[in-house]
Amino acid sequence: MRRIAANYIFPVTGEPIKNGVITLEDDGTILRIGRLESEEEDTEFYNGILCPGFVNAHCHLELSHLQGRLQEATGMWGFISQIKSLRETTPREERIRAAEIQMENLYRQGVSAVADISNSEETFGIKTRSPLYSRTFIELFGSEPDKAEELLRQGVQKAGRATAQGLDASLAPHACYSMSVPLLEATVREGLKSGFLSCHNQESPEEEELSGRNTGKPSLLYFLDHLSRVHTPTVPGKINLVHNTVTGEESIDAALQILQEPYWTICPLSNIFIHRTLPPLNLMRAKGLDICLGTDSLSSNKCLCMAEEIKCLHINFPEIPLTEILKWACLNGAKALGKENELGSLEPGKKPGIVLVSHIDWSHFKLTPDSITKRII
Ligand SMILES: [Zn+2]
Repeated sequence: MRRIAANYIFPVTGEPIKNGVITLEDDGTILRIGRLESEEEDTEFYNGILCPGFVNAHCHLELSHLQGRLQEATGMWGFISQIKSLRETTPREERIRAAEIQMENLYRQGVSAVADISNSEETFGIKTRSPLYSRTFIELFGSEPDKAEELLRQGVQKAGRATAQGLDASLAPHACYSMSVPLLEATVREGLKSGFLSCHNQESPEEEELSGRNTGKPSLLYFLDHLSRVHTPTVPGKINLVHNTVTGEESIDAALQILQEPYWTICPLSNIFIHRTLPPLNLMRAKGLDICLGTDSLSSNKCLCMAEEIKCLHINFPEIPLTEILKWACLNGAKALGKENELGSLEPGKKPGIVLVSHIDWSHFKLTPDSITKRII
């Protein structure tokens, strides 16, 4: 048994507890949470906030070798062309080592689960060995309709090899603009068999302009049209819409009507890196969306740090309380991965991991530039 206390505990499902203490079994399962009445000998005390392990709701571990290699603020087309030209320039062993280092960092900094996009199979072994839970989305793209069948076949085989290694894995479309209609619909049909789907959504103004020109509607409405052809009248499954930088009310309302369980993942630092813009968070909050937090990849971020994403939100949306942001960073991500019975909040019976967030601005209950996160359990 272990007793861990701190200035504040943020359980996520309840109000913050001043001088809180968590009692855990040796395997990390929470037994009790309460207020520290007297300093007992066997209690470890930390300065800062204790919260549950984070869920990084969008990441591309396999792009970790691109850290520091891409130019910022190039927009979507500039970003895609840089990725294409740099992707194969690092030897395979170095790419794998870079991903492994990042997986270890994620765990040490308190991430307990990650939704990870894979094009290649290079990160399968890393994810299998890590104590951190991952769900792998095998990402497909390709704009030539003739190639859809072959791409789907290869994707299904990759997902099968991931599953054979013990990973939770299924297919996911990259984005509407990068896929032929047959590939988009086949990927969605196959991916939804797992109960999970992920898709980059409305990431850039360029994407919305392209969709407007080609289809006459926002790209999310176009995506929903195709989802509706696969499942009608509503679409089941946990559908992780990623970025949502340029989403709007019409898109959100339509998604809420058609999708049974949408999640809206934001990757603030990545959006700033590529597009110098951020999603309409106050609209998304007003609509009551289940918002999740992700880091995206090191091709468009300087580190895979949930703390840095939270700091970015503090700076750009100072009105959003830390309790709400931690719900996005922990519980909503756990729900998006179907892991909310184990992860995402500090409650008896759960085993979410415990994270210390240090250097808190206590007068505003915010992280400071010096704040770091560290896994305690
Ligand atoms: Zn992404």
